[in-house]
Amino acid sequence: MRITSITAFSYKAKYNHGVYTMSGGRTSDGQPSLVIQIRTDSGISGWAENAPLGSDYLPSSYTGEIAALKELGPKIIGLDPRAPAAIGAVMDRAMMSGMAAKSVIDLACWDILGKSVGLPTHVLLGGCLSQELPAFAVVGFAEIPTAIQKTKDELDKGVTALQLKVGDDPLVDASRVRAIREVLPESVEVWADANGSWNLEQALIFARALGQDITIALEQPCRSLSDCAEVGRRTGLPIILDECVFTMADITTAHAAGITGVNIKLSRVGGLTKARILRDAAVGLEMMVTVDDTWGCALTTAQNLQLAASTRPDRLRAVDCFAEWTNPLIAEIPRMRANGRIVPTSLPGNGFGAVNVEVLEPLFHIHPE
Ligand SMILES: [Mg+2]
Repeated sequence: MRITSITAFSYKAKYNHGVYTMSGGRTSDGQPSLVIQIRTDSGISGWAENAPLGSDYLPSSYTGEIAALKELGPKIIGLDPRAPAAIGAVMDRAMMSGMAAKSVIDLACWDILGKSVGLPTHVLLGGCLSQELPAFAVVGFAEIPTAIQKTKDELDKGVTALQLKVGDDPLVDASRVRAIREVLPESVEVWADANGSWNLEQALIFARALGQDITIALEQPCRSLSDCAEVGRRTGLPIILDECVFTMADITTAHAAGITGVNIKLSRVGGLTKARILRDAAVGLEMMVTVDDTWGCALTTAQNLQLAASTRPDRLRAVDCFAEWTNPLIAEIPRMRANGRIVPTSLPGNGFGAVNVEVLEPLFHIHPE
């Protein structure tokens, strides 16, 4: 089987709840999402999606990833898509950056591989270890009454895992987190994500203001791995890393520094082939894993579910199901049930129905010269 062409599309994956907020004044009402279709000489085609979270979240941007895709695409025409690791090696030799572009190519190849053998990708990753997976929701920056209402709305939907955005004024953030924690049942998994905005001093102030009676995990409190690890050592709070983990070396350094959890975003690490290896390393080191991506909607959700379903359930914190908080849906996918969990499909490949091309804007087409 050979890759014969790649077509790139775009659409805006809009946030369902107005404006999405992160520390440092980063806001968004949605992101342009990059969708690709890889066609093969067998008639099978694979689809994948990723939307970078603006240009100020990771060393990645929508326009940069499009440029990377235009450069990488011609190098994989003619290759066998059923060998995603071999295609990844070709892409890594060709370019150091372009992780999200590499990720959508890798994911579309996994979609083709699954379809070619009639199996869901999670079976090819080791099997479905969990029949239903906890989806998490995000509560952003807001005045306390608004944040509590948003929290209650998510609880009403059945959500059992909540990420609370922090990372601005540590005292204000601590008050809001305390107020939210008080209205949450003990059974709800809750953690605070500063998206790397605090320095060590601010993170320590937050932890002291939060108090000894509340224990939550803290995600990426500071920019660097070493500062995050120091926050864990000084406060005793479990630390999750996100933005600063790219490679296996980062995972092993994090574990050695006492970090207990990692958020694995498929597009940050270059795709499912690499995310799977990092996931297996993290689980092997007894760390907790969150399966996530930067932004997207239906296909991103289905892709995340492949990695989450094949993760040991007792080490999976939660999975990001973007289709629960962005729109429009460009394909049918599983949705969160009333118990806050999602059941992966047994569809071959990455687990979504036919892509509705009508809502997509065609960007460019890559074919043999
Ligand atoms: Mg995060």
